[in-house]
Amino acid sequence: MEKKEQLYEGKAKKVFATDDADYCIVSYKDDATAFNGEKKGTIAGKGVVNNRMSNMLCKLLEQKGVPSHYVEELSDRETLVKKVDIVPLEVIIRNTAAGSFSKRFGIAEGTKLKCPTLEYCLKDDALGDPMINDTQILAIDAATREELDKIAAMAYKVNEVLIEFFRTIGIELIDFKIEFGRFHGDIILADEISPDTCRLWDIETHQKLDKDRFRRDMGGVEEAYAEVFKRLNLD
Ligand code: UDP
Repeated sequence: MEKKEQLYEGKAKKVFATDDADYCIVSYKDDATAFNGEKKGTIAGKGVVNNRMSNMLCKLLEQKGVPSHYVEELSDRETLVKKVDIVPLEVIIRNTAAGSFSKRFGIAEGTKLKCPTLEYCLKDDALGDPMINDTQILAIDAATREELDKIAAMAYKVNEVLIEFFRTIGIELIDFKIEFGRFHGDIILADEISPDTCRLWDIETHQKLDKDRFRRDMGGVEEAYAEVFKRLNLD
C-alpha cells in the first residue's frame, strides 16, 4: 500500500493516508508529553520501542480473541493499521493503585487492588480528559450501550492477557490505558500499548519501567524503555 498525505500529527505519532481509504500508516515519534501537554521532551528510541511493542501485543491479543487495528509492521517506526473512527474515550484498567487513583482516593501507590477497576475519561485535550461514567457517556452519545459493553469486556480480556504475558518477562502490570475504534460496524482495539500507556514495574525490585520516569523526572527514562524492549525479545 502506498503512503500518501499526512492526516494528523499527535503528541507521539503521525498518521498518513494510504491509497486505500480503509487503511492508514502510523509513524511513531520520540516526542513525549505529560500532564496534558504541559511537559514536553524527547525519549531517544521510544518510537521504535512503542511501535514494535504495540504490534507484538496486538498480535498476541488477536490470537487470544481480541481484534485490533494492527495489519502489518512496515519498519521500526511505521505500521499499517485499519483506519478507525476512534471512540472518544480513554479506557483505563488498574490492578494496583498508582497515579491519579492514589491521589483521588488517598491509597498509597503500590497497594494491590482487590479486583481490577475500569474507568473512562473523555478524550478532550481542551477539557483535560475529564473522568466520565457510563450514564454520562450514553447521555452525550460518546458511545452506545452495545459499544460500551463490548469495550468493557474487551478491556478486561486485554488485562488478563497482558498480566499473564508481562509476568513471564518479570514485569507487573500496574495499570494501562487503551482506546477503541469503530471499523465497519465492529469495535476493535486501536492506538498503542506501550510504556507510554502502561505502568510497568519490575516484579522483584518494583523499579518503574515506564513513562512515570519521564513524568516525575526520575532519570533513566531511555534505559527503562530499552529494558522493556530487551525483555520482549524482539530482536
Ligand atoms: N494514561 C495514558 N494517557 C493519559 C492518561 C493516562 O496512557 O492521557 C495511562 C497511564 O500511563 C497509566 C494509566 O493510564 O498507565 C492510568 O493513569 P492515571 O489515571 O493514573 O493518570 P496519570 O497519573 O498518568 O496522569
